[in-house]
Amino acid sequence: MNITSVNPANGKTIKSYPTHTPNELNNKITQTHQAWLQWRNSEPLHRAQLLHELAATLIKRKDELAELMALEMGKPIKQGAAEIDKCAAVCTYYADNAESFLKDQPIETEAQKSFVTFNPIGVVLAVMPWNFPFWQVFRFLAPALAAGNCGVLKHASNVPGCALIIEDMVREAGFPADVFKTLLVGSDQVEAIIENPLVKAVTLTGSTNAGIKVAQKAGSVLKKTVLELGGSDAYIILEDADLEMAATACTDSRLINSGQSCIAAKRFIVVEPVAEKFTQLMLEKMKAKRMGDPLNADTEVGPQARVDLRDELHEQVQQSIKAGAQCILGGEIPEGENAFYPPTILTKVKKGMPAHDDELFGPVAAIIIAKDEADAINIANDSVFGLGGAVFTQDVARGEHIAASQLEAGSCFVNSLVKSDPRLPFGGIKQSGYGRELGMFGIHEFVNIKTVYVK
Ligand code: NDP
Repeated sequence: MNITSVNPANGKTIKSYPTHTPNELNNKITQTHQAWLQWRNSEPLHRAQLLHELAATLIKRKDELAELMALEMGKPIKQGAAEIDKCAAVCTYYADNAESFLKDQPIETEAQKSFVTFNPIGVVLAVMPWNFPFWQVFRFLAPALAAGNCGVLKHASNVPGCALIIEDMVREAGFPADVFKTLLVGSDQVEAIIENPLVKAVTLTGSTNAGIKVAQKAGSVLKKTVLELGGSDAYIILEDADLEMAATACTDSRLINSGQSCIAAKRFIVVEPVAEKFTQLMLEKMKAKRMGDPLNADTEVGPQARVDLRDELHEQVQQSIKAGAQCILGGEIPEGENAFYPPTILTKVKKGMPAHDDELFGPVAAIIIAKDEADAINIANDSVFGLGGAVFTQDVARGEHIAASQLEAGSCFVNSLVKSDPRLPFGGIKQSGYGRELGMFGIHEFVNIKTVYVK
C-alpha cells in the first residue's frame, strides 16, 4: 500500500510513499524503545541543548518547511512560516523550563524524607492531523523529549512529506538516532501500534470519532490517552463591545488556516442590539480576505486540505440553508480541480442546523442572535464541544467573570481570539477531549508522578 500526497490547490499528485510492513513497524517501535533505555538517563542540560539545536534547525529550514505545507495541505506560505516560528518557540520553551517543571517536589510527612519525582514512561504514540502538520507534532514532541520520553508519530495520510522531514530534523539537531520515528502507516494500523507492549501511552489530535476509536483501544489495554479533538468555539459579542475590534478578531479567528483549526471561532453569538452592525462589519472583513495560491505571499485563504473535506463542509452549509439559515457571503464551490472554498457567512443560524450543532471545519462563520448576556452564555454552552471561547466587552471585569466562571470550555479569552501558546495549558472538555498540552501541565501528562517515601 502507498500513502500519497496530493496538492489541494490543483489536484496534482506530489509523491507516493510505500507504507511499512507489520515487521518494519514493529522493528521501528523496538528501535525507539531501545533508544529510550539510554535517553531516559540523559542529563536535563543535554536535552535542553539539543532542543535549542532543534529550534535552530527549524528556523534554518523555515522556507522549505512552509513551502512543503503549502504544497501538501494548502497552507498560505506566510502562515506556514509563522507555524515554524511557533514550533521553534515551543522547543526553546521546554529547553528553558523542563528542568524546573520536573524538579523533585518535597512533601512534608512523618518520614525522614518524602517527595514526588517525575520519571519518563517510555515510547509515546502521537496520532496527528494535517491542519498544523508541524505545530501539532512539536507541541507533543518538545515536552516528550524534554521529559526523557521517546516518540513515534502516525501522521495524517495527506502530509507524509511533513512527517518524514520532522524525523530528519530531529536527527539533524543531534538527538540520538531513533528517539523519534515517523511511522508511514494508515489509520487501520493504529490499533496494532497501541497493542504493542513497548508503546506506553497515546496522544491524538483530530476528530472526535478518531479520538473515541483510539481511546477505546487504549482503554482496552490500559494505556493513558490525551485527546485534543474538535471544537465549535463560541465568541460572544456583548452590546458594550468595541465592535470594530471584535469583528477583526472574529474574522481572523474564523479564517485561521483557511478555517481549518480546532480553536477557530465557529459560532458568533451577538446580542440583539448590536447584531446588525456587527454582521455588517464582519461581512466587510470576511469579503476583503484574499483567497488564492498558497505559494503566493499575499494569500490569506488557501484551499481546503482535501476535496472530500471541502465537499463535506459545503454539504453542512447547504443543509443549514435548507433549514432556514441565510447565506450572505460565499457558499459556492469554485470551478476547477481544487479544494477551494470561499469565506462564507451564514446568518439566522438556529439550533438543529449543522452550523449550530456541528463543527464547521472551514471558512464558514455562523452568526447567532441572542436576547441578552444570559441567553448568549446559554447558547455558547449548548454544544457537545468545549475547547475554547471568547467574550467581547469593554467592561473587563464582566468579561473576566464570564470567561472564568460561565463558559464551559478549556480556554476562554476576553477581547482576544483564542490561541495556543507554549506557556499556557491547552485542551478541552466534553467532546473536545481531555488532558492538557503545553505549559507545565502538558509535560506532566506523560510522566510517572512517583511518590518516594524514606522512613
Ligand atoms: P481525522 O480525525 O480522521 O484524522 C486525524 C488523525 O487521526 C490522522 O492521523 C488520521 O489518520 C487518524 N485517524 C483517523 N481515524 C482513525 C482511527 N479510527 N484510528 C486511529 N487513527 C485514526 O481527521 P480528518 O482528516 O478525517 O478530518 C475530519 C474532521 O476532523 C475535520 O473536518 C475536523 O472536524 C476534525 N479535525 C480536527 C482537528 C483538530 O485540530 N482538532 C484536526 C483535523 C481534523 P489518516 O489521515 O491516515 O486517516
